[in-house]
Amino acid sequence: MVFMSEIRVPTVFTRIIAREIPADIVFEDDRIIAFRDINPQAPVHLLVVPKTEQYRNVSELASRDPGLLADIIATAKRLADEHCGGDFRLIFNEGEATGQTVFHVHAHVLGVLPGDALAEESLAH
Ligand code: 5GP
Repeated sequence: MVFMSEIRVPTVFTRIIAREIPADIVFEDDRIIAFRDINPQAPVHLLVVPKTEQYRNVSELASRDPGLLADIIATAKRLADEHCGGDFRLIFNEGEATGQTVFHVHAHVLGVLPGDALAEESLAH
């Protein structure tokens, strides 16, 4: 007998990794993928996502694979260097109360385009 709790529906990010859903992919290696958020909250808004969907949030990832978490942060920094002058805001939502909607751990990388003073102000709080 198969219980409902045993049936795992692939997350939207797993479907992006499998190229079932299109995305603007900016980086990919064997363990991590990064792409532009479909609903950007800043001039630069990237999502950095481990390919495994076994960790629902950053606390699970930190306790079970801290090396992968470090790689996600290093990737965020490299992408910020490429896309927004090196400065960035890094956000992990954890739990529905914070607005987490995709339970496949991911880092939001928010930044502004270098020299865009108005956008810089909007992110500086
Ligand atoms: P959360 O709210 O879980 O921290 O963040 C999930 C993020 O995934 C949201 O910012 C949302 O806009 C983004 N997102 C959801 N579905 C898609 C999609 O199909 N493609 C892309 N590129 N981003 C998505």
